[in-house]
Amino acid sequence: MFSYRHAFHAGNHADVLKHMVLIATLKYLTEKPAALMVVDTHAGAGLYRLDGDYAGKSGEADDGVLKLFKALAQVKPAQAATNSVATLSPVLQDYLDLVGAFNHAGKPKVYPGSPFVIQRLLRHEARDKLKLFELHPTDHNSLEGNIAQLEAGRQVAIARADGFEALKALLPPPSRRALVLMDPSYEIKSDYARVPACMADCLKRFPTGSYMVWYPVIPRPEAHDLPRRLKTLATQAGKSWLHTTLNIGQHADMAQVTMPDEKAPRPGLTASGVFLINPPHTLKAALQAALPPVLEALGRGRGQGFTVDGGG
Ligand code: SAM
Repeated sequence: MFSYRHAFHAGNHADVLKHMVLIATLKYLTEKPAALMVVDTHAGAGLYRLDGDYAGKSGEADDGVLKLFKALAQVKPAQAATNSVATLSPVLQDYLDLVGAFNHAGKPKVYPGSPFVIQRLLRHEARDKLKLFELHPTDHNSLEGNIAQLEAGRQVAIARADGFEALKALLPPPSRRALVLMDPSYEIKSDYARVPACMADCLKRFPTGSYMVWYPVIPRPEAHDLPRRLKTLATQAGKSWLHTTLNIGQHADMAQVTMPDEKAPRPGLTASGVFLINPPHTLKAALQAALPPVLEALGRGRGQGFTVDGGG
């Protein structure tokens, strides 16, 4: 427990998919004037340096947000809107603009995690609220420090608590409108069971909420079963759902035979998925338009592709 640090993974292809979906969902939900509560059960540190030690060591952002900016924003992230707006779908443009807003023109150096992505889209006048949970002591401290800079006051609350457990007391929200993001690290196998158990409980407490789950697409039965279990829960509750995956494929050099004294290259995570219950009805078409250029920019070879399915 607690060996996972999101700083190694910030801005990778999985964050690109997750944060694109998150932005699109929030933009839709904040179109209605009534207050929205957003719960981020696994918040992480909130802000990440892409030119720091962690990201530098893993190089994951190089194959994610940095590659995307290079391909689509012509290395001018803050001006992405003026460069390629005519050819990019709104979901992708919104993602580039939001990341660009945390950076000066040029290669992005800072990456906003989900707490900062969400906070940026909340409305003070509507009294939207953000509840953040993070268990890791170091990341919790970083999150508190990062959020303090926003001077967001009572709009944002942070607790060092188990997000799955803490969520129970928040549902249903007083405003009767909520988005819950469940983004565990799946560092411990029990997360794969806790997500659907928590979702079943949420659907009983607050059936009309919107729920979003991220998961890694890896050859593990629990990971494979997770979207199926969520789909069953949605169907049994009579709720609509959306399931999207992005696979950037394997590096061409992964197939090469390595010399006996070389370490085999680590395959790393090549694919991930996001499952939503009660998604915006506009999201399926929006992602179908947004993902082809993302795949074109990030695709590395064998296995690459994306899916967008929905029902209910
Ligand atoms: N949501 C973040 C984002 O998109 O920027 C990334 C979160 S990261 C994948 C998962 C985080 O959950 C880690 O920082 C980890 O320390 C934390 N964590 C693990 N188990 C937890 C739990 N039961 N409750 C709250 N946080 C937890």
